Amino acid sequence: MLEIPTALRWMYIDLNSYFASVEQQLQPHLRNRPVAVVPTSGTDSTCAIAASYEAKAFGVKTGTMIYEARRLCPGLLIVPARHDKYVDFHHRIMTEIDRHIPLEKVCSIDEVACRLIGPEQDKGNAIALAQRIKQSIADNVGLYLKSSIGIAPNRFLAKVAGNLQKPNGLTVLEAHELPDRLLHLSLRDLPGIGRRMEQRLRDVGITSLQNFWNLDPKHVRRIWHSVEGERFWYALRGVEVAEPSETQRHTVGHSHVLSPRMRPRHKARMVARRLTVKAVTRMRRLGFYASFYNLYVRFECREEPSRWQKHIKLPYAQNNYCFLKALNGLWDDMSQVENSTHIKQISVALYGLVHEDDRMPDMFAALGDPVAREQKKHNRLSIAMDLINKKYGLDTIVTGALPCPMSRYTGSKIAFTRIPEKAEFHE
Ligand SMILES: [Mg+2]
Repeated sequence: MLEIPTALRWMYIDLNSYFASVEQQLQPHLRNRPVAVVPTSGTDSTCAIAASYEAKAFGVKTGTMIYEARRLCPGLLIVPARHDKYVDFHHRIMTEIDRHIPLEKVCSIDEVACRLIGPEQDKGNAIALAQRIKQSIADNVGLYLKSSIGIAPNRFLAKVAGNLQKPNGLTVLEAHELPDRLLHLSLRDLPGIGRRMEQRLRDVGITSLQNFWNLDPKHVRRIWHSVEGERFWYALRGVEVAEPSETQRHTVGHSHVLSPRMRPRHKARMVARRLTVKAVTRMRRLGFYASFYNLYVRFECREEPSRWQKHIKLPYAQNNYCFLKALNGLWDDMSQVENSTHIKQISVALYGLVHEDDRMPDMFAALGDPVAREQKKHNRLSIAMDLINKKYGLDTIVTGALPCPMSRYTGSKIAFTRIPEKAEFHE
């Protein structure tokens, strides 16, 4: 007998008409008007990559050809896409959400899943948290960036719940309400069922969600030709299925909007170091190695936000020193081209991740290569620091802010010297 999950473990946040909403936020004359965002300007033979809700009311959707969209909605305003703005807003929104709840999985530029723990799983608390997140985005990023939030026992249902009310929705979906609250959906409305799978289901006589619900999991597995079918069956019932993507995690990152006090460059650099160590520590805990390090910096400017971004490829690593060294290199690169004195936001990301179980044994280390030996030593030191911080509390031991390039030190001279004031980092 399947045990029905009762706890609300996930929150899924999906921004509504994201590209169009960013444009409405940035360009007041677009607000409350039908807007279609297009990849290139000056031609009608392209399609909308986003439509505002005002345009959706006329039947304009993502994928509608522009000549068709103009016919459906004569007053339609066509706006060329500005991807740099959407990325910029993405970082700002994610940072805002992160102030309320850790980001478990950033699913796309406008979607993020978060795990609810402890008292957050209480229905009333979860709703209040979702409302705070919406308010916080409205207050600190922009009033026109609305989202639909779903709360449910697993990530799959949280996403489905979010889709139930758009725009600006907030929906709690509990396991005991299933399948009734979903019966009005078509199979294609479920994430994971595309055109081809819909056809395969149709071929075996499954045309409605109720039909599908009545199947047993082994049957679904046969239709899918894979264990994925069975997992889908359980996911639809709210069961937390360990997703394969969890072991194929793509990035680990952290982002921070700096308080005015921390914005001068030399202070911002300390924040960047801390974010880097935080991300690497988390990655280590999850058991991954990364081969890329990305630094994103947004400068404080009165008008147009300006930003700088660059990544660097590394040999697979999971120790703090390797990434702090990468940060130093990128920071120097940035300093050569950007002369703004104040930094508003910093994001760091580690990607190209490989799980330690999937990693080839290190041949160089086995052969006693000095560089590999050094790496190994740094790995052990990083792990020791994790243990100390876990036992005695965050920031008990940190890597010192070395003013000189990291490549200059040798293993025995690593300076992790002082216990900093917590407030230095947490404004
Ligand atoms: Mg969206």
